[in-house]
Amino acid sequence: MTDAAEIIREIPRELANDQIVPFLLKQNSAWAARTAAARPEVLAENAVGQTPQVLWIGCSDSRISEACLDLQPGSVFVHRNIANLMPHDDMCTLSVVLFAVHTLRVRQIVVCGHYDCGGVKACLDNKRLGLLDNWLKNLRDVKVRHRAELEGIKDEKQRTDRLVELNVAAQVHSVQRMTPVIDAMRERDLKVSGVVYDVATGKLRHLDVPPDADADQYICY
Ligand SMILES: [Zn+2]
Repeated sequence: MTDAAEIIREIPRELANDQIVPFLLKQNSAWAARTAAARPEVLAENAVGQTPQVLWIGCSDSRISEACLDLQPGSVFVHRNIANLMPHDDMCTLSVVLFAVHTLRVRQIVVCGHYDCGGVKACLDNKRLGLLDNWLKNLRDVKVRHRAELEGIKDEKQRTDRLVELNVAAQVHSVQRMTPVIDAMRERDLKVSGVVYDVATGKLRHLDVPPDADADQYICY
């Protein structure tokens, strides 16, 4: 069997539900064998520990992940949630940032949004989504802050794309207001950046995030 034949991009729809995990294990077995053959040093290094240089923050959407960076396992520490939000009252989010910054000492934090984001579309549609409405509150705050600009965009897709970008910028600022990040930016020049992924092209675009005009209000001595 060739490498190309082993790479299956989709879980066959005809599988029974209890056949899915065995299928995933088979896939993993082929991947592990390919990785061990092509880059044995990667698995050997990963067995010793991790020293990622980047914290990647992305959406849970199945179409976008850090896999688009084409890096080996061990390169990127990852946090993903619906609409790539970075609220200060979420223990998981804060723990990931603290561990990445204090323990792993990453050099760069990247917030990645993506076009056609279901969370962003739900926010703009004002549809009631139960528990998820609480999670999306952070995103609704971004929408409200930029209400005039967004309501001025008549094309629905363009309006959604714009909120995707505004949200990335807002989450970059949110990360920059977290205490461990404030300290690391000052002490060792930690960087925080925003990018947007296009699900139609597979390409990332760097987002020019303006400086946080209120940054000084979040520094505590
Ligand atoms: Zn999304």
